[in-house]
Amino acid sequence: MAAEPTTGINTEVTMEEIVALAKRRGFVFPSSEIYGGLGSTYDYGHYGVLLKNNVKNEWWRSMLTERDDIVALDSAIMQHPKVWEASGHLAGFTDPLVQCLGKCKKRWREDHLREKIEAEGGDPGGELRCPECGGELSEPRNFNLMFETHMGPVAEEGNSVYLRPETAQGIFINFKNVLNFARKSPPFGIAQIGKSFRNEITPGNFIFRTREFEQMEMEFFVPPDEVDEWYRKWIEIRRDWYLDLGIRSDFLMVRPHGADELSHYSSETSDIEYLFPIGWSELEGVANRGNFDLTQHQEHSGEKLEFFDQQSGERYLPHVIEPAAGADRAALAFLVDSYEVEEIEGRERTVLRLHPRLAPVKVAVLPLFNKEGMPEKAKEINQTLRAAGIQTEYDSGGSIGKRYRRQDEIGTPWGITVDFDTKDDDSVTLRDRDSLEQVRIPVADVPGEIAARLASPWRSPKPG
Ligand code: ATP
Repeated sequence: MAAEPTTGINTEVTMEEIVALAKRRGFVFPSSEIYGGLGSTYDYGHYGVLLKNNVKNEWWRSMLTERDDIVALDSAIMQHPKVWEASGHLAGFTDPLVQCLGKCKKRWREDHLREKIEAEGGDPGGELRCPECGGELSEPRNFNLMFETHMGPVAEEGNSVYLRPETAQGIFINFKNVLNFARKSPPFGIAQIGKSFRNEITPGNFIFRTREFEQMEMEFFVPPDEVDEWYRKWIEIRRDWYLDLGIRSDFLMVRPHGADELSHYSSETSDIEYLFPIGWSELEGVANRGNFDLTQHQEHSGEKLEFFDQQSGERYLPHVIEPAAGADRAALAFLVDSYEVEEIEGRERTVLRLHPRLAPVKVAVLPLFNKEGMPEKAKEINQTLRAAGIQTEYDSGGSIGKRYRRQDEIGTPWGITVDFDTKDDDSVTLRDRDSLEQVRIPVADVPGEIAARLASPWRSPKPG
């Protein structure tokens, strides 16, 4: 089946197929399943944890390891309530909610309903009806997306706290600490990965939109006259990050926001969008936040948050460029982009053509049979690879074909098979997930060969 980027739908795979694979192979499970599930919350299983960790590690690598102008932060999920007053979230972090007054009583986001009508060529300004039952809809009501709870044993006025709806504010309120201790001056960035919470009106599409999710955000503080240059640079850097990790270029685009879409804090924003089975949707936003947040926190806290430039003797509030990505949404895009079902010698195989650096398991170590010293030798190779820091899986159960198919489904790029000849020639068969090529290599060369393959650039063999 061909992908059809021009029609605006990814027809290679459905969301249902991804959900089924994720459950079948233990990537992601519906949460609280034994109690009937809690809508739109998910738990990550073994391979899901490994995949999402790899996504986050690649993000840290690009932010911290490969550059020296960004430092890390891990701020608290619960912050002083004034943070959200200053940031504008208490007053303005709302979505327009409409409710069906007809049979089904379902709640909808008014803006999403209008966007859908526009995408289908209709008049987005016209009267709305319930998409489920055709009933009349209520007037829109602004609904704040922050989860509220209480600090201390008694729920009373004055002790409300909020679960953070973004990690960014934790960065702004630590700007002064970082300036003092990290010995950085603009342009420099502060990066953070962590959970955020939004009481979304219409969560859904698996892990695309949930109420609890992980964000990967970086605030890059720059002198005001460098803001345009850095805005453009960060859009490019972040787009290339997805491409380097194997996302196909026909399935990725940068979409600048129209004036009516901009958030209260941003003068310009571009979304990096991926062609999901639900159509083009945001993977990440790159925003020019100006000096909005530092100005607000300076005013509300009374603390000076200016940077003093010793060379020019100038004091100023830096401007901020923010690339804000979702770890779960990125993991979903990598799953969708890599999924393929193909026929090989009359048999169907499902394969995740994940970039090797993202693949949960790098090498499957397989004894051809459970006899003649094969398991022992395979375990030895497995240990050597693990000692070299390579994630492996030793698997001796079932026919070799079945074991390969299981590994293909979780995206393991390489298989090492110990067979009858290994005893005599001290060599093993190395199988490649994508080309299915099998080569014979000496046991001693295995760790070096895998490390070299992991370090090589990789491109998806899928079209696009
Ligand atoms: P959307 O328009 O999809 O609601 P947003 O523009 O509100 O997203 P941002 O506030 O820019 O999102 O958050 C940055 C990133 O965090 C998003 O690009 C997305 O990857 C991720 N993200 C935001 N909300 C959710 C959610 N409810 N579930 C999963 N990921 C999310």
